[in-house]
Amino acid sequence: MSDLAFAGVAAQADKVRRKDVSARELTELYLARAEAHSELGAYLHLEPEGALTRAGAIDRALAEGGDPGPLAGVPIALKDILVTEGMTTTAGSKILDGWVPPYDGTAVERLRRAGAVILGKLNMDEFAMGSSGENSSRAVCKNPWDPQRVPGGSSGGSAAAVAAGLCAASLGTDTGGSIRQPASFCGIVGLRPTYGRVSRYGVVAFASSFDQVGPLARTTEDAALLLETIAGPDPRDATSIDAPVPRYRDALNGGAKGLTIGIPDEFSAEHLGTGFDPEVERAVDEARRVLEREGAAVRSISLPHSRYALPTYYLLAPAEASSNLARYDGVRYGRRDAEPGAGLGAVYGETRGRNFGPEVKRRIMLGTYALRSGYYDAYYLKAQKVRSLIARDFARAFEDVDLVLSPTAPTPAFPIGSRADSPLDMYMADVLTLSCNLAGLPGISVPCGFTQNGLPIGMQMLAPALGEETLLRAASAYERASGIAGARPPEVFHG
Ligand code: GLN
Repeated sequence: MSDLAFAGVAAQADKVRRKDVSARELTELYLARAEAHSELGAYLHLEPEGALTRAGAIDRALAEGGDPGPLAGVPIALKDILVTEGMTTTAGSKILDGWVPPYDGTAVERLRRAGAVILGKLNMDEFAMGSSGENSSRAVCKNPWDPQRVPGGSSGGSAAAVAAGLCAASLGTDTGGSIRQPASFCGIVGLRPTYGRVSRYGVVAFASSFDQVGPLARTTEDAALLLETIAGPDPRDATSIDAPVPRYRDALNGGAKGLTIGIPDEFSAEHLGTGFDPEVERAVDEARRVLEREGAAVRSISLPHSRYALPTYYLLAPAEASSNLARYDGVRYGRRDAEPGAGLGAVYGETRGRNFGPEVKRRIMLGTYALRSGYYDAYYLKAQKVRSLIARDFARAFEDVDLVLSPTAPTPAFPIGSRADSPLDMYMADVLTLSCNLAGLPGISVPCGFTQNGLPIGMQMLAPALGEETLLRAASAYERASGIAGARPPEVFHG
């Protein structure tokens, strides 16, 4: 049965439709696995009753000859930043403890409509601020390949759960790299769509001009299938792109032939201020050669402003966060745990003081500072201008190449606690993913090998806006040629 847990979305949907396995059996399998491996810290909340009821309804619909949708009976789990009707949603924060939303976000609603079974909610850095999962207010999530190490962040639970076979696939969000980086640390595929490709309605806001929902999955096929389910215009999100949704799975067999891949000159230690692990460099170089053998042309390109991506992002994202998080004022959300009669001020102070973790407070302070009227021009406005320059670099590069290729992160998963005291070291984990978000582009991380210690390594590819098909085409060509996909973490998760 455990093989089935690693079979992936497309294969499971087929089996359910052919009645080789029932939605209920599949759901029971994952619920049991999630319970058995709870020490991993991947789930914040499991919803067994809801999931089994839903699975039963799908089995009945199938028995009656109905078509419950392309994801019928496939158990999916969600980063706890996605708003779910009747199911607790905390964004990894104590301030949202006990909040049970009265509605589904658009991506969630579309998954359900396609027949998916929602198993529960996955661990994450508080309000998606983090690169390791350690900023969760609940529990530290561990990396299934090495439980002494982080799964990456902020969608750490989403990546760990898929890697360990605790759900068929998951959704995460990527504001600065939070889908791609944990996918690379956990040896799975993570796809950040173009800004606006997936609706942000019902996604707890972090930095609204960057946030984007996307799939974490075992294969490019699964990522394509999930993306075509959740993507598309939404009248409830004015920033969602009004463009038809292609059948992304059709892009998978295009092959690498005819594609031109750009390698940025500036993705170097001198330029970015951080070294690359030699094993990561070697694996990504080898992956590039595989794509060349498959017929892709490779050339170097220039992204001259990439060295400013990190400071620009860490100014703009906190600025947006400081505004978005003002709603958690202790009146509308959060625990009202002050003494009765202590007055609103006490409630306010209590909630503020006790319920945001240190990284969230740091971001609110940074953001508020950057937006102060006296400093606005020097920081926020300047950063917006640099954001435009970064976007322009990409626009120029994409006149000559179809894709940009690099490692997803400079290193493999690092030990839990090793960067917790140094925010700047932590931020460096995103140095290769942030430019994509600043420019609003789509990006993918695909597994491209392992270190000698058996830690997964990820390769990142970026494309022009709405270039998801090109990403999937190249990633799938690489996946087939390399045979590195859907690898399973050590024994303990097999049973
Ligand atoms: N690690 C980055 C941050 O902390 C990106 C997070 C994300 O993409 N949600 O802001």
